[in-house]
Amino acid sequence: MMMRNHKKVISFDLDGTLVSAKYGDMVWNHGIPEEYAKKYSISFDEAKEKVINEYKTMGDSHILWYDITYWLDRFGLSIDARELLDRYESYIVTADKIKEGLEGLKKRYNLIVASNAARIFVEKELEYTGLMPFFQNVISATTDFGIVKKGEDFYKKICLEMNVRPEEVIHIGDHPVFDYKAPLSIGIEAYLFRSHDPEFSLNHDEDIKDRVIYNLKELTEIL
Ligand SMILES: [Mg+2]
Repeated sequence: MMMRNHKKVISFDLDGTLVSAKYGDMVWNHGIPEEYAKKYSISFDEAKEKVINEYKTMGDSHILWYDITYWLDRFGLSIDARELLDRYESYIVTADKIKEGLEGLKKRYNLIVASNAARIFVEKELEYTGLMPFFQNVISATTDFGIVKKGEDFYKKICLEMNVRPEEVIHIGDHPVFDYKAPLSIGIEAYLFRSHDPEFSLNHDEDIKDRVIYNLKELTEIL
């Protein structure tokens, strides 16, 4: 007998999926430049240009790029990372109907978070929003696995960690490659998340039409 739904785990991307990407953007591209401007007595715009240039010079394929403490040290800023994360917490906004969606799914599946962001961000966002209790496991690719992009290896590690086969996992996220094509390529059933709010995600220009969902409640209805 063929069981149609043999899924066990649903894995969620965090930024741009469960929570608005605006938060990370504010910490990195507003908070750090603002501190930099104060310390070196230059304008915010000058500081922002300088800081963003430094980020770009390193590039996001380097593990240190994700490490906020590294950047604060490198720029000679004495502010504590947690203090900076707390300062922008009002920008931590969840997706529409998220709790209703997770409530329903939690009864039937093990829910996990699989994020590229450093653990300090992931925990802040999940705690602030009260979403932490929905998840059995929370994984940061960069902090926990030392992996900078959620490619095939990342998803294989997730399956190992959760002790399931790729066919038993569903993943949902807003990045066309790292949340959709990569998991699909190893046999995970993937869905692309698109918010109706254009500021919610940083990823837009992709013409994926299949398996696009606009809120998590929709996912409950599909599964
Ligand atoms: Mg994302």
